[in-house]
Amino acid sequence: MERYLPDEEASLAFGAELARMIPSGLQIGLHGDLGAGKTTLVRGLLRALGHAGPVRSPTYTLVETYSLPEAPPVHHFDLYRLADPEELEYLGARDRLGGNETCLVEWPQRGAGFLPPLDLEIFLAHRPPGRTVRVLGHGERGLAVVRRLERSLTV
Ligand code: ADP
Ligand code: MG
Repeated sequence: MERYLPDEEASLAFGAELARMIPSGLQIGLHGDLGAGKTTLVRGLLRALGHAGPVRSPTYTLVETYSLPEAPPVHHFDLYRLADPEELEYLGARDRLGGNETCLVEWPQRGAGFLPPLDLEIFLAHRPPGRTVRVLGHGERGLAVVRRLERSLTV
């Protein structure tokens, strides 16, 4: 599944679309260079789930948990500054990852060996003036989301 996202609005809309298509508890990796739009996608997803406040990359805290009005909490990780996957242990990440609550992980490759298997991997890349997004599903739950995205005509 691949799409072109011509501007920031399209990235937000794609995040919102994803919010409607994922069951809670999915483990989602977000790949892409700095500025590729990973956090923008998470922002669109969280807004669609009713989060009204700001959404920033948790660059220094590494993880931010969002309580939502009508859905289970969503955990947003940014592992860019993670020096060692073991650090995740001290952050209490073990309790947040791999359960019934959705996890969105920027730079998942830095948590290799510690992260649970990912159901979905999203690859964002610069293609001026916008971005491309590619979604890869693993296992039954991930593949179901990809099929839903392929069928959807909203973007
Ligand atoms: P990342 O988390 O991958 O480092 P951000 O989500 O913080 O990236 O986005 C970086 C910049 O890219 C922001 O200024 C955002 O407005 C812009 N951006 C996001 N999606 C698009 C898009 N589809 N086209 C153009 N600019 C975008
Ligand atoms: Mg980011």
